[in-house]
Amino acid sequence: MITKFIKRILRRDPMDRHVQTSHSGAPKRISKKAHRIDPHLLSKNAVKVTDTLQQAGYEAFIVGGAVRDLALGISPKDFDVATNATPEQVQKLFRKARLIGRRFQIVHVTFFGKGAPEIIEVSTFRALLENAGEHVAENGRILRDNVWGSQHEDAARRDFSINAMYYDPSSETVLDYHGGMVDMQKKVLRMIGDPAKRYREDPIRMLRAIRFAAKTGFNLDLATSAPIAKLSKLIHDVPSARLFDEILKLLMSGYSWAAVQGLRNAGLHHGLLPLLDHILDNDPDSKEANEFVRVALENTDQRIRSGKSVSAGFLFATLLWPDLLINWKRNIAKGMANIAALHDAMDETIATQSSGMVIQRRFESDMREIWAMQPRFERRVGRYPFRLIESPRFRAGYDFMLLRCTTGEQNSDLGEWWTSFIAADSVGQEALMASAKNNTGNPNSPTKKRRRRKVKSNAPTEDTPN
Ligand code: ATP
Ligand code: MG
Repeated sequence: MITKFIKRILRRDPMDRHVQTSHSGAPKRISKKAHRIDPHLLSKNAVKVTDTLQQAGYEAFIVGGAVRDLALGISPKDFDVATNATPEQVQKLFRKARLIGRRFQIVHVTFFGKGAPEIIEVSTFRALLENAGEHVAENGRILRDNVWGSQHEDAARRDFSINAMYYDPSSETVLDYHGGMVDMQKKVLRMIGDPAKRYREDPIRMLRAIRFAAKTGFNLDLATSAPIAKLSKLIHDVPSARLFDEILKLLMSGYSWAAVQGLRNAGLHHGLLPLLDHILDNDPDSKEANEFVRVALENTDQRIRSGKSVSAGFLFATLLWPDLLINWKRNIAKGMANIAALHDAMDETIATQSSGMVIQRRFESDMREIWAMQPRFERRVGRYPFRLIESPRFRAGYDFMLLRCTTGEQNSDLGEWWTSFIAADSVGQEALMASAKNNTGNPNSPTKKRRRRKVKSNAPTEDTPN
C-alpha cells in the first residue's frame, strides 16, 4: 500500500501530454455487498493487468461488458481494462503487449496458458469528443480518438449505462457514473446522453442496443428506442467491414433468434441480409424460409450457449439458403441442368447479398462448399459417399444437411443414413449402401415418395430443387 502511494507521488502525470478535463459527476461507489460480483468469475489475467498498472501508480479498472456480465452473474467472454496510463506506458509494463489501432489506439496484453492465449484489451481513458474537437480540426480524424481524458469523460463516451461501470478488483468496488446498477435492477438498457445524438455519432450503437437487449432480456428505455425508427437508415453509412463484424457478433451472441426479432421490431433489418428483408416482413410466401432460419438460429444459439463452436461460413450459408433455393428452382424451371443451376444460383445469391452487407471472402468460400455439397448427399452409390466423406468440409456440409432434415426440407431418412454411414465400419458401410440401393433400386426415390406425403412445401427435396 505504501509503495503504491509513493509510486503514485513520484510518477509524472501520465496524461500530461494530452489531458482534456471536464468536471462534475462523481461516480456512485458500490460496495461488494451491493454489487455482489463473484471474484471467482474474474479472469486472473485481467486482475494481473489491473494489479500491475495500480502497482505502477496508475488507475486501472475492469470495464464495459465484463462488469455488466459479472453483475449479472455471467462469466464474461472477454475482459477490457481502462486506465489513465497512456498506451506507451501500458506497453512498458508487460512482456507481451502490442499497440493496436491508429484511430482508436489500445494495447493488447497477451497471456499464454493451458488453452488458447487470453488477450486483455487495455484502453486509456478517452476525452469527450467535444473536448477533442480542436484536435479534429488540427489533425483530422486519426488523432481524434486518441485524446486522453478523465475517467468521468471516458464513462460519458460509453454507450449504455450498464456498460459504463468500472470495477476495481483490489478493493472490489464498482464505480458507477451513469446509474448502471439501478438500470440493471430495473432491467433497462439506457443510452448515455442524448440517444439521437449518440446514434448519429455512431449508428452501430443501434445494433448494439438490439444485441444487448436480446442477450440480457432487458427492455430498451423509451428515450433510447424512440429515435431508432427515424435513424435506422444511418446503418448504411457504416463501413461494410464494421457492419459485418457487428452482425456477426449479433448472430454469434447465443441469442441470435431473439436479436433478429429485435432487428425486425426496430425496423433495422432492411438491407442487411436479403432474406431478413422478406422473411421478417412476414411475407406469406416466406413461411418456410422463416421456419428454416428460426431452426438454424435456435440451433446456433444452443451450440453457442453450450460452448460449442459455430462457423460464420456455416451460419451465413443457412441464412442465405432460402434465397438460394428460390434461385436454384427458377434456374431449373428455365431448363438449366441441376448442378449448373445450383452454381448459377450461388453466384446470384452472393451477388445480391453483396449489394447489402458484404460477407467476407473467406466465409464466402465456406458457404459455397457447404451448398455445393448438398446434392452430393443424395448420391449413395459407387464411390460417391466415400469421396464425399473425405472432402475437407464434410462435417459442415453434413451438419447443414441434418439441419435441412430437421426443418423437413430434406427427408430425415437421409440424415439417419449418413449418421449411420459415418459411424459404421467398412462391412457396415457396404450394407448401408446396399440398403439404400435395395429400397427402390434408386437411392433417391424413397426420399421423393415420403416427402410428398409428409410435407406440403414446394421446397426442393432431392438433388433437384423441385
Ligand atoms: P461484448 O464484449 O459482450 O460484446 P461489450 O459491452 O464488452 O460487449 P465491446 O465491443 O467489447 O462490448 O466494448 C467494450 C466497451 O466499450 C462497451 O461495454 C462500451 O462501454 C464501450 N463501447 C464499445 N463500442 C462502443 C460504441 N460503439 N459506442 C460507445 N461505447 C462503446
Ligand atoms: Mg467486451
